[in-house]
Amino acid sequence: MLRFRFWLICMMLAMAIAPVRAQQRVNVVASFSILGDLVKNVGGDRVNVTILVGPDGDVHVYTPAPADARKIADAKLLVINGLGLEGWLPRLLQSAGSKAPIVTATKGIAPLKLGSNADPHAWQSVANAKIYVANISDALVAADPAGAEVLRANAQAYLAKLDALDREVREAVANIPPGRRKVISTHDAFGYLAAAYGIEFIAPLGVSTESEASARDIAGIIREIRTEKIPAVFLENISDPRLIRRIAAETGARVGGTLYSDSLTGEKGDAPTYIELVRHNIKALTGALAD
Ligand SMILES: [Zn+2]
Repeated sequence: MLRFRFWLICMMLAMAIAPVRAQQRVNVVASFSILGDLVKNVGGDRVNVTILVGPDGDVHVYTPAPADARKIADAKLLVINGLGLEGWLPRLLQSAGSKAPIVTATKGIAPLKLGSNADPHAWQSVANAKIYVANISDALVAADPAGAEVLRANAQAYLAKLDALDREVREAVANIPPGRRKVISTHDAFGYLAAAYGIEFIAPLGVSTESEASARDIAGIIREIRTEKIPAVFLENISDPRLIRRIAAETGARVGGTLYSDSLTGEKGDAPTYIELVRHNIKALTGALAD
């Protein structure tokens, strides 16, 4: 009996530490790179993550390829941002004929408004990213009940890292003199960062990169930089840099570098993960706004 019990414990240990075989992994499709990273952190080796809009891609103006319909058809779960970010998704879902459940990662987040539209860039506040992770964790557990324990442990570990990140951002912003917490970015992607951490962002483009800034908008921004003495302007990895460079040249505001708004970079870039994206942005901001 004792020997049997020993054997049983050994078997259970072996099962617990055996890596999940690739064919047992759950296929999850994430609409864009930032979500994909959050899913990987929670899913670990229980999931295969496929990302539709990859590194340095612009999720606002994406045109799905035929391969995307196949990716979605194979998915057991589809993770999207919602709040109007993925306007191209309904047609893609229709052509894929997918029955996979869809989880909206922003579920439960009170959206900021920009005019009559919801601002979709909720991930720019780390507190919101924690809500994304909770939603993703619940959806993954529902899709893979056998992995519940591992998935919940992964989520807890990642949430602890996000708590530390949030503290890091608050400490960094506290070191910027209050009068200098103002920047220009290309499109209105940092409303949640502004609301959470108290840095003011002004953008010539609206909430989507789809629009183009008018001459009047640009003249207004240039006037604002001068009267408000805004210290720095920032480029984005997904937007045309010419507009910001022109504004910098006309006003003498410093180009503070690149902010990563809607997309991660590739492995070798400055922002290959969500945590590195937030760290890069806050470092660029504090560097440009310090005296
Ligand atoms: Zn955007």
